[in-house]
Amino acid sequence: AVLARHGSDGTRLMQILREIQEETEWLSPDILTRVAEGAKLPRGQVEGVAGFYHFFHTEPLGSYRVLWSDNITDRMAGNADLMARMCKKLWLKPGKVSEDGLVSVDTTSCTGLCDQGPALLVNYRPVTRMTAERVDQIVDLIRHKTPLAQWPAEFFHVDDNIRRKDALLGADFKPGDALKALKSPQEVLDAIKESGLRGRGGAGFSTGQKWDFCRAAVGTGPHAAHYVVCNADEGEPGTFKDRVLLSSYADLVFEGMTISGYVIGAKKGFVYLRGEYRYLLEPLNAVLEKRRAAKLLGKSILGRTGFDFDIEIHLGAGAYICGEETALLESLEGKRGVPRKRPPFPVTSGYLNQPTAVNNVETLASAALIAAKGAAWYKSIGTPKSAGTKILSISGDCERPGIYEYPYGVKVSQVLADCGARDTQACQIAGASGLAIAPNEFGRRIAFEDIPTGGSFMIFDNTRDMFQVARNFAHFFVHESCGFCTPCRVGTTLLANAMDKIDEGHGGEYDISDIWRVIRTLKTASHCGLGQTAGNAVADTLQKFRPSYELRLNVRDFEPAFDLDKALSKMREVTGRDDPGAHFHINHRKSRSG
Ligand code: SF4
Repeated sequence: AVLARHGSDGTRLMQILREIQEETEWLSPDILTRVAEGAKLPRGQVEGVAGFYHFFHTEPLGSYRVLWSDNITDRMAGNADLMARMCKKLWLKPGKVSEDGLVSVDTTSCTGLCDQGPALLVNYRPVTRMTAERVDQIVDLIRHKTPLAQWPAEFFHVDDNIRRKDALLGADFKPGDALKALKSPQEVLDAIKESGLRGRGGAGFSTGQKWDFCRAAVGTGPHAAHYVVCNADEGEPGTFKDRVLLSSYADLVFEGMTISGYVIGAKKGFVYLRGEYRYLLEPLNAVLEKRRAAKLLGKSILGRTGFDFDIEIHLGAGAYICGEETALLESLEGKRGVPRKRPPFPVTSGYLNQPTAVNNVETLASAALIAAKGAAWYKSIGTPKSAGTKILSISGDCERPGIYEYPYGVKVSQVLADCGARDTQACQIAGASGLAIAPNEFGRRIAFEDIPTGGSFMIFDNTRDMFQVARNFAHFFVHESCGFCTPCRVGTTLLANAMDKIDEGHGGEYDISDIWRVIRTLKTASHCGLGQTAGNAVADTLQKFRPSYELRLNVRDFEPAFDLDKALSKMREVTGRDDPGAHFHINHRKSRSG
């Protein structure tokens, strides 16, 4: 039935697998075979896709699949102890399925709920603000096999936590306002260019230019077409502003997509929604239905003949790399999310190799407002090189975590004061691949010309250990590397191993120089931005928070990660034999001092 619903179309493989898994709990070998046959795809391809995404299961993981969000902010809020409590009460080990096959508990990367953590997903529905009491309640519900629909509704409540509104979040906008103000596609394009709008995903490419290139590109083949894609795969640790835009400003986002379609000549748009936001699928589809009923989507929008555009939502399945636009396009086509070679760029060869404009959620919402209110209004906000506002997702050590919208150019110190941060030691801006800044840099500004960011803003006070922050990010990249190229696949693991070695007290200067060598290789030899930036947090913390590393460096030169003495200590106890000459540390240090 699922295959039939999708017309057995292989490009819809992700949606097919997800919908089947929602019915069957896991993707058995038999199901994969039947999907391959039905969609006329090689079985290896179907298996490859099922195996690539963290949220697809090719082995049973229980009727209740609990995934604890494991961003550094969740750790700071105590997720590890709470997860240990849950595992103990359920009699299982993290990463394993209970003996009765009922439940499994594991960790996952940031779930976009850092302002209300510790958080977890249960069967991909978010539960926020976990406490020991809530853990006990969930354990009881699982033990009694209570269906999720009967769990207390407040468990699943997700707050917007909007703390500061500006031009976008505070705009007086009604559905259709931007579409009713539309002039010719060229005039709209000119306005977007004139406004200075730049991509809000972090890279900051001119939106007007992107749309111009896409509009000029020619589609190929019998199904030549242009496409609009909204990148809602918000996976950067510490980022959750797109969650809020899609929860409470979906009309603005959809209207921005429709305008983009109008300008580039597309009739179809996709929202690629991260799997962690599965709970938003039905509410977003309801907004789309309303817009269709109001003639704001579909055929002859607002009665204009030839202005046809519709939107479909595709769900991701837990792969951070799909935030990279070419990996996202691969995933949208039902493949593994492996980044493509560039050029060609998506504007000429994107979805199904057709011209495609891929934009961030916030960019599209801003474009709708520009179409409604004009370029001059937008350009008057922000700085000369960074027009408009930026929405920040603020989490970590502050009194009021949540969503803050500022005109570009705001100082970091102002942001910290507004959210009630005290004794701040560091801010990690733009996520795990971003920038760690120290107090002497808090006068810097959020702007493309100073600190560009997709929106993640994590705060660490004086009690935090910046080494552990960097170590958490190093492990994040091991988990999220797509494995396609060796420098990233191996480099991220080497980096995380080196950080673990230092953490366990076996690190020396040799390891620090080794870390620098790995970071250089990652930066220069990786295929895509994930690998190229995977060492940023370690590099920044090494330069700016060096004491947190120094206090762990026991030796000045090389020491192996494996502690032979520790490994043998049990046997020494059992046998009662302890030859001083057989102690590695004593002999090693003697030979160094000698
Ligand atoms: Fe994949 Fe990493 Fe290579 Fe990017 S750099 S293609 S994420 S392995």
